[in-house]
Amino acid sequence: MERFKAILVTRDEATKQQRPAELVELGLADLMEGDVTVAVSHSTINYKDGLAVTGKAPVVRRFPMIPGIDLAGTIVTSACSSFQKRDPVILNGWGVGETHMGGYAGRARVRKEWLLAAPEGLTAAETMAIGTAGYTAMLAVLALERTGLTPASGPVVVTGAAGGVGSVAIALLAGLGFTVIASTGRTEEADYLKGLGASEIIDRAELSQPARPLAKERWAGGVDSVGSHTLANVLASTRYGGAVAACGLAGGMDLPSSVAPFILRGVSLLGIDSVMAPVTRRREAWDRLATDLDRAKLAAMTTTLPLDAVIATAPDILAGKVRGRIVVEVGG
Ligand code: NDP
Repeated sequence: MERFKAILVTRDEATKQQRPAELVELGLADLMEGDVTVAVSHSTINYKDGLAVTGKAPVVRRFPMIPGIDLAGTIVTSACSSFQKRDPVILNGWGVGETHMGGYAGRARVRKEWLLAAPEGLTAAETMAIGTAGYTAMLAVLALERTGLTPASGPVVVTGAAGGVGSVAIALLAGLGFTVIASTGRTEEADYLKGLGASEIIDRAELSQPARPLAKERWAGGVDSVGSHTLANVLASTRYGGAVAACGLAGGMDLPSSVAPFILRGVSLLGIDSVMAPVTRRREAWDRLATDLDRAKLAAMTTTLPLDAVIATAPDILAGKVRGRIVVEVGG
């Protein structure tokens, strides 16, 4: 019988407390229902995966659970005509790794509509170097573009700059010709951020204090993965008619802001969700990632780890200690 390595989280049913994650061996019978079985070659560690593996927030909503919100691999068996054996595929979100067993296992059984054919021109490892964080950064850039923002509009700010969403957002925006201001708590990573294309580095402390309703206009737009006071300050400093894409909460879930940027400067706040984003939008994002993202910059922001390093690394991403993106080699 086929066995494969997996990371598993369980909970104590009496206390409802999540137990520490374990590396175990499972069989196909341990997986959940689905039309398609995938041999997972690669996954990644996003902020949400850090929460799921450590149990620091209630990301996992079904136990036992294999975390891992992203996966790349090839079809092993398919009960549908849209995918054939050996087809390369990717999966991001849809509750995988939260309510349906996810990418930290040699095999995944999932619903066909959650899968995308692997984007042309990207290896499986590169798709996971991008992962949900990078695909979300692309969704944010696409949302900014739809407002008409162009490099001629003015500079853009990226917060949480040295993290996964931030690193990919910088590389994408700089590649499109934007002047990028990177906000980071790790100013020692200035060379790294400039290498990705940032023109200016600011200390995130500048944006972390309670915001005034309006401040000096500093940028035409932004990609924010931090939330809370940081997003409020980004909005308060956005130029007339600008737009800010909000995609994260690394600094907090709240938004202590006012309506002033919206009603006095016509600023737009754009919500970005990757988990349930419709397939057409996902396809558009992945097509643009395949053409727009500089592979050398992607390699520069990527660290590769084996599956058995995930449990030890999960707390690091929550502590803001991970730079850029991590590829997890899952194998068979
Ligand atoms: P990372 O941990 O890789 O990056 C987050 C970055 O935020 C850190 O590297 C750090 O950047 C900064 N940061 C961390 N803690 C704080 C803090 N307390 N105050 C200010 N800045 C902080 O995570 P990801 O890039 O994977 O995800 C970023 C955020 O986006 C998360 O909140 C995640 O949940 C969310 N997300 C949302 C998605 C969606 O669908 N909307 C999809 C993907 C991610 P630096 O060191 O440069 O300051």
